[in-house]
Amino acid sequence: MEIPKILNATGFSNATKIVTEYLTPSFLRTERPLLQIIWDLRLGYEPYLASPLFPVFLSVIFYFALCLPFMLFDIFCKKQVWYRKYKIQIDKEVTKEHIYDTLNLTFWNHVLFVMPGAVAQWIWTPVTPLPDEAPSMFEFCWHQLAALVVFDLQYYVWHMSHHKIRFLYKHIHAVHHRYSSPFVWVTQYLHPWELVTVGFLTTTNTWFFNSHPLTVWSYMLVSIIVSVEAHIGFDFPFLLHNLDPTGNIGGSPKHDMHHQKPLTNYQPFFNHWDKMFGSYCPPMSGGGIKSQALLDYEKRAKQCKKNI
Ligand SMILES: [Zn+2]
Ligand SMILES: [Zn+2]
Repeated sequence: MEIPKILNATGFSNATKIVTEYLTPSFLRTERPLLQIIWDLRLGYEPYLASPLFPVFLSVIFYFALCLPFMLFDIFCKKQVWYRKYKIQIDKEVTKEHIYDTLNLTFWNHVLFVMPGAVAQWIWTPVTPLPDEAPSMFEFCWHQLAALVVFDLQYYVWHMSHHKIRFLYKHIHAVHHRYSSPFVWVTQYLHPWELVTVGFLTTTNTWFFNSHPLTVWSYMLVSIIVSVEAHIGFDFPFLLHNLDPTGNIGGSPKHDMHHQKPLTNYQPFFNHWDKMFGSYCPPMSGGGIKSQALLDYEKRAKQCKKNI
């Protein structure tokens, strides 16, 4: 007896193909992987994208574009209900003088250190041709995650030593702590040495994995997003740390607490090392709300001071 065509293997496969084709949006109807489609957008722009100047311009432009909306929130939205609900340190006002001061230092750091560094790189680094193939999705994701985990540990050590060693704190890291209530431009309100060393660590991390340029550029943007988010001073419900059920992602409330209590929460992205070595402090939520964990922490800290 002949099997009806729709029930045999070829017929079933054809039917699946037709259904999949029908349900897939037209812009995704392709045989090529998604990253290859993105990578192919470079065609025609290779001389610019292969230049050592490109990653610097990309990160500088992205940084300023990402910070701009949060600056506007702090200037124009102070009286809005949502502003008061999600601002962490609601009692500390962000003034125009604060914005001018932080932007001024950021500008001069870029003119005197970032741009000359980029030009030196442009002169001395040979132009490396871009590969034809995009990375696989697996490689793209794990290289970025690994680079973030490595940077998180490097910065934890750098950060803790710049708090514990008095000379390093007084002459370098104290600049960043001028503001105990972070707002977006505090992200790069840094002593030049901090800007250069931390920038060097971020840039070189993907070298360990010999990452594809697309992965490197994406990692740079992700690092900027995470460091800006740490300083926005808001605890919006859609931020990654609020979607993480494990509670291991740092985010704005934990770094905000670091600016309030500088000997706590040294890690930039996660908090496992802080928890392991006793420097973790529970964060304050939007609207200045203290959790029970934070109240208990403060009670214990007071008790310890009394006993000393
Ligand atoms: Zn900070
Ligand atoms: Zn610090």
